[in-house]
Amino acid sequence: MALTLLRGIRTQTLLRANVGLFGTTQRLPLAHLTTRVESVQTTEPKTVPKSIQQATKEAAEQKMQGFEAVIGIETHVQLSTITKAFCSCPYDYGSQPNSTVCPTCMGHPGTLPVLNTKVVECAVKVALALNCEISMTSKFDRKQYFYPDLPKGYQISQFDIPIAEKGYLDLDLPVEFGGGHRRFGITRVHMEEDAGKLLHSESGNYSQVDLNRAGVPLLEIVPEPDMRTGIEAAEYGAEMQRLVRYLGVGNGNMQEGSLRCDVNVSVRPIGQSEFGTKVEIKNMNSFNEISRAIDYEISRQIRLHKESQADEIVQETRLWDESSQKTFTMRKKEGLADYRYFPEPDLPEVVLTSEYVDEIRNSLPELPEAKRRRYENMGLSMQDVIFLANDDNIKYLPTIRSNSSSIGLGKPSCRDISLAR
Ligand SMILES: [Zn+2]
Repeated sequence: MALTLLRGIRTQTLLRANVGLFGTTQRLPLAHLTTRVESVQTTEPKTVPKSIQQATKEAAEQKMQGFEAVIGIETHVQLSTITKAFCSCPYDYGSQPNSTVCPTCMGHPGTLPVLNTKVVECAVKVALALNCEISMTSKFDRKQYFYPDLPKGYQISQFDIPIAEKGYLDLDLPVEFGGGHRRFGITRVHMEEDAGKLLHSESGNYSQVDLNRAGVPLLEIVPEPDMRTGIEAAEYGAEMQRLVRYLGVGNGNMQEGSLRCDVNVSVRPIGQSEFGTKVEIKNMNSFNEISRAIDYEISRQIRLHKESQADEIVQETRLWDESSQKTFTMRKKEGLADYRYFPEPDLPEVVLTSEYVDEIRNSLPELPEAKRRRYENMGLSMQDVIFLANDDNIKYLPTIRSNSSSIGLGKPSCRDISLAR
């Protein structure tokens, strides 16, 4: 179990500033490209016609018109712990408003938070799966802002010492989008609590507050600004969802808000080293919408650059509107300094032991990337590899014939598995 030791209130200033999406520029090498396509029934690999990939690439380049997009996608993963992060209330999505609340998660004065150690366990699992360096000692901080669904007036989060940093996530792009392997850097993983929810009346005259979600544990995962297209960002989000489900730390349902993706987009002329002004996009409810919202925003910013109106690109939060397929201004974005972070005085530091971390490492299941590489080495096509690794419920592994390099897909076949599950 995690050891939590009280080391007193920290008074040192918060020195580490490289916590922003564009704070560090560490790049990780891309692995090999995979372009083979074949069906399960055939043993002869077929090659994707070059023209499809070439046309996709050329269309994308033409659309960019000498500009390059830099995309970040901050993911919030809601953890499926039995109780909330700092109190003993349960959380059941869809339950009667304000039915799973207590003085602690309602922010009553005089209440004290007590850390749920399952939150730490889930965070370490995700951090290890993302190949991160684990902070053996981390701490919580208060992120202060006002909003009606946040009765305390601050969110318990982690600022300068997150539980994990400097990892990466590997994925394979679907063949229909050009295929290829990608590695995206992970800047940090930190633990925090969720806020409540506002329910707006149809008339728009009033809103009601539901605090059931207040205090539910979240992991925020911030990647390096390595993505360049909407497809890459959407596939990153989809891989994060797979990872969460494989690890069993959350259900990853976007419709329930269990997996939320906040996207940052900026463009800059190719060759320019500084980043352009980044714009945040919210309100996407599927990976498909994420992809389209990013592509729209890239086009909008490039158009403004080309019309010499680049000063109209301001740091702001924009909402994706699915019906019009456009983004709209929601509000100007606060800077980090506005939150006035300071160490949470009511919680001790989180101190882990190497035995604890090793125990969790040894308990990890086979993860999507390892499964894809194993299937690929068995000779399956990339299309089938991606299909099989998409679902952690697919447990059956085709056997390899000992006297042949081909795969025994006799009974049942991979197609049978997909139908049977
Ligand atoms: Zn509570």
